[in-house]
Amino acid sequence: MTYNITLIRGDGIGPEVIDSAKEVIEATGVPVEWDIVEAGNIAMQEHGNPLPASVIDSIRDNKVAFKGPITTPVGKGFRSANVRLRQELDLFANIRPIKSFKGVDSLHQDVDFVIIRENTEDLYAGIEHMVGEDAAESIKIITRKASERICKFAFELARAQCRRKLTLVHKANIMKLSDGLFLECGKKYAKLYDDILFEDVIVDAMSMKLVQFPQDYDIIVAPNLYGDILSDLSAGLIGGLGLAAGANVGHDMAVFEPIHGSALDIAGKGIANPTSAILSGIMMLRHIGESGPAERMEQALDKVFENKDNRTPDLGGNLRTEEFTQKVIDKMIG
Ligand code: ATP
Repeated sequence: MTYNITLIRGDGIGPEVIDSAKEVIEATGVPVEWDIVEAGNIAMQEHGNPLPASVIDSIRDNKVAFKGPITTPVGKGFRSANVRLRQELDLFANIRPIKSFKGVDSLHQDVDFVIIRENTEDLYAGIEHMVGEDAAESIKIITRKASERICKFAFELARAQCRRKLTLVHKANIMKLSDGLFLECGKKYAKLYDDILFEDVIVDAMSMKLVQFPQDYDIIVAPNLYGDILSDLSAGLIGGLGLAAGANVGHDMAVFEPIHGSALDIAGKGIANPTSAILSGIMMLRHIGESGPAERMEQALDKVFENKDNRTPDLGGNLRTEEFTQKVIDKMIG
């Protein structure tokens, strides 16, 4: 059986890291037919739209996509293509595993938790307007439906991954209605999943605790904005954006992508760290049921990192993207 997967190489370092991960995936022997579509800057130039309908249609057909970062032009008139993609396909859950690599210098070792971020609402609903000329208003939307759905998803994932504790992040002491509702939904599911230890932590305190004691966490669930910020903070704990994977998941569709952006400062130089993209590929293989090859990719990465010489420049080394990729493939098939 061949898997049909939509491939979006993206902007900046996107093509470099996605091609690397694609090569590693192909080296596992898992049969994939890539449906290559263009989004981001190229699509903007050719179709005047960074996210053409053909991209959405391809993902709807294939149900699985592998994607590089897409740049959003700063300023008025453009909505983020990433946010649009998540909203149009109702990819309501953003999953970011944060796991330290033995041998990679980082602020912490033995870190292994997953952040689950609500992906469709909160301040990202995109409802903003000027109030006169000197004030602007952004509306924060939190609904019971979306909050229950993400909390249930988080508890289910905790069970599926045999994790014992779920931490819900909020600021309900100040936003008593919106964050209060999110917390209420979490507490409702905590009663239904009483085999999982439940706690709630205010987002500012959580930021400090994560920096000090990240090993204390297992599954973290958060509304969109807090989840976004804590995800990057957490990537920093284990060595940076180049080392953390991500997935956007809906009821029957999923888009896998590295969590970093297009990093235009190093684009085209062949020095991007493809680990985040490779890790996203590993998540994708698990998602389609190819756990064995996923496991082999993961072990190969671990082995590559055991040797301190195997580092791209962002981690203090001098391997080029292609060289790093080849080392992972060699470890996998060697
Ligand atoms: P965007 O505007 O698309 O969000 P960005 O330039 O802000 O992109 P980030 O991903 O936020 O990019 O990265 C910030 C910086 O971290 C980059 O400028 C780059 O120097 C570094 N960086 C990010 N990802 C990688 C990577 N995979 N390999 C090496 N360096 C990276």
